[in-house]
Amino acid sequence: MIFDDELLERCISCGFCLPACPTYALTGEEASSPRGRITLMRALETGQLEPDDPTLVEQSSFCLGCRACEPVCPAGVQYGNLLEQWRDHQWRGRDRPWLARVLMAVVARRWLLRLQGLVRRHARARGRAESLMLGCVERGLYPAVSRAALRIAPDLNVPANQGCCGALHAHNGESGRGAELARELGKRLPGTIVTTAGGCAAHLTAHLGRDRVKEFSEWLVERNAWPDGEVRVDGRRARVALQDSCHLRNGMGVTREPRELIKAVADYVELPNAGSCCGAAGTYSLLRPADSREVLAPKLAEIESAGVDYVVAVNPGCLRQLRQGLRGTPVKALHLAELLRLAGN
Ligand code: SF4
Ligand code: SF4
Repeated sequence: MIFDDELLERCISCGFCLPACPTYALTGEEASSPRGRITLMRALETGQLEPDDPTLVEQSSFCLGCRACEPVCPAGVQYGNLLEQWRDHQWRGRDRPWLARVLMAVVARRWLLRLQGLVRRHARARGRAESLMLGCVERGLYPAVSRAALRIAPDLNVPANQGCCGALHAHNGESGRGAELARELGKRLPGTIVTTAGGCAAHLTAHLGRDRVKEFSEWLVERNAWPDGEVRVDGRRARVALQDSCHLRNGMGVTREPRELIKAVADYVELPNAGSCCGAAGTYSLLRPADSREVLAPKLAEIESAGVDYVVAVNPGCLRQLRQGLRGTPVKALHLAELLRLAGN
């Protein structure tokens, strides 16, 4: 058995999820919609299609894994879980993209992550009960984010010997290993785990429980840690938009908190499709760069016409995607922690 039967049977083929799906919007083809992919999964499960069927191979990879199909589904289909089970089967061994294999091997080695910290100075150890998770992408590419988070919340503990949360494994065909890494990290980080990465928050929540995990914005809002000051540009209050993190929004339902924090320090501008995927989608932007850029393109047009100074991300993958897309434009992409830090906190 490849899929959890009960999960696969839940879909009633109503099609409510189709308008929410970014890959369906790109192609208009049923096979690249959530309903179409569930039909493919059923064909795989019953043996009507072999795993090397070209449509199965293509659609298991073309899906962004953004989970925008979940909140709109009246039958409660847990598409994210189904996709993990699909890729566990479809991307076994040599069938897994080589780049995903390399990245997974790197982030699973804690000593390599610690080494990154020596080269790229992320936040350093304190000794309190709630722990700041450093995140492997953030440690390598955006150590300023964890430093900004610690300036805003100096009472957070930052254990040095942290590993990967396992989200990368779960989304790339090794969900068992992804769950193991999440549990290991849960043992290493005492108390509540606070993370500046929406994707990691959703993965950890799935394995450690909602009570153990807080995304940075929801943690600040829950503690009434409202920022003072404001972000100004050219003598006026800055205009700031938000790009939601898909898994934070669709997996955890966190949307209000980052907006409230931005409103506290700047003039908030809601993008028409702030909640739709930016095309980063974990390893997707590396594995399928052309499709990733196609998903991003309408968002860049929205940002340009919104006339904002900054676009805020709450996940390092989205931050990377937006920074690349906005290169050469006057709009800057920042992590929420960096924006709050700019406000003088
Ligand atoms: S909305 Fe849910 S039940 Fe309806 S087709 Fe999509 S996944 Fe199936
Ligand atoms: S996860 Fe995203 S891209 Fe994949 S089927 Fe659902 S809405 Fe479409």
